[in-house]
Amino acid sequence: MTAPERLQPVGIVGLGLIGGSLALDFKARGHPVLGVARRSQVCEAALARQMVDQASLDLRLLKAAAVIFICTPLQVIEPTVRELVPWLAEATVVTDVGSVKAPIVQQATPLWPNFVGGHPMAGTAEQGLEAAQAGLFQGRAYVLTPTADTPATVIETVASLARSLGSRVYQCTPEAHDQAVAWISHLPVIVSASLLAACEAEPEARVHDLARQLASSGFRDTSRVGGGNPELGLLMARYNREALLQSLHTYRQQLDQLTAWIQDSDWPALEQSLRLMQQVRPTYLDD
Ligand code: NAP
Repeated sequence: MTAPERLQPVGIVGLGLIGGSLALDFKARGHPVLGVARRSQVCEAALARQMVDQASLDLRLLKAAAVIFICTPLQVIEPTVRELVPWLAEATVVTDVGSVKAPIVQQATPLWPNFVGGHPMAGTAEQGLEAAQAGLFQGRAYVLTPTADTPATVIETVASLARSLGSRVYQCTPEAHDQAVAWISHLPVIVSASLLAACEAEPEARVHDLARQLASSGFRDTSRVGGGNPELGLLMARYNREALLQSLHTYRQQLDQLTAWIQDSDWPALEQSLRLMQQVRPTYLDD
């Protein structure tokens, strides 16, 4: 009889929604899981929920990890890699889950050659350890953004862990990732926020009140991402500024075109465009 395969110990920094959900899934699959948080209450809660085998406020706990996922907010990823480096064994693989890739990859790769950027395309509107849930990554895309110098073994290590969560793994450059998420994630936040701001600009109090009373499912859908967590929206805009500006520029041109058709009562042109968009929409959505 062969000995059971010993699964790689996984380290996680930042036990919030994404980090906690990864911890739950890796633990359920039999990996030893080591978690690092910045507050002792979070360590205690993660141990109590049996999401991790060990938890600490000290990054040195992760000396024993073969693969480390950095799951902190974007601005803390590079400082965390910098702090981790002195404690890492040469072969340790480091990855992150940040939702913008080019600046992170540019900063982290020179610090640790066995770094590969990653972005699981899964989440909820909630934050923190309490929001962590098992199976969050099942059936979802997981993007890896290696550079030309990233060792193939590093890419494969993280890809195979992501596949073990049930994710579909994609690979692209950090820049292609950032432009793609600008279109489908970051532009919608700004468009949705501007929709809310435009409604708020209604000058007549009676109409403004009535609009609020009449708002229903369509408004719920179109305002959801613009009325979400402001910190996340701000970080997206700060970290993905160039790609977001590019998308906003094109969006403005589209809006001008639609406005012109309405202004000119060019209903055939408007209808043709709306029909085309009805056909296009399902190609973006997996449900
Ligand atoms: P979250 O629930 O707020 O979790 C962030 C975690 O990082 C928390 O545990 C927080 O600790 C910890 N943290 C914050 N500042 C820290 C610091 N200075 N040092 C150490 N730990 C620190 O956020 P999240 O949604 O999981 O997001 C984490 C990362 O995932 C972000 O980079 C984000 O871009 C990416 N991401 C998010 C989503 C999404 O939909 N939410 C999807 C994909 C990727 P406390 O518990 O003490 O606050």
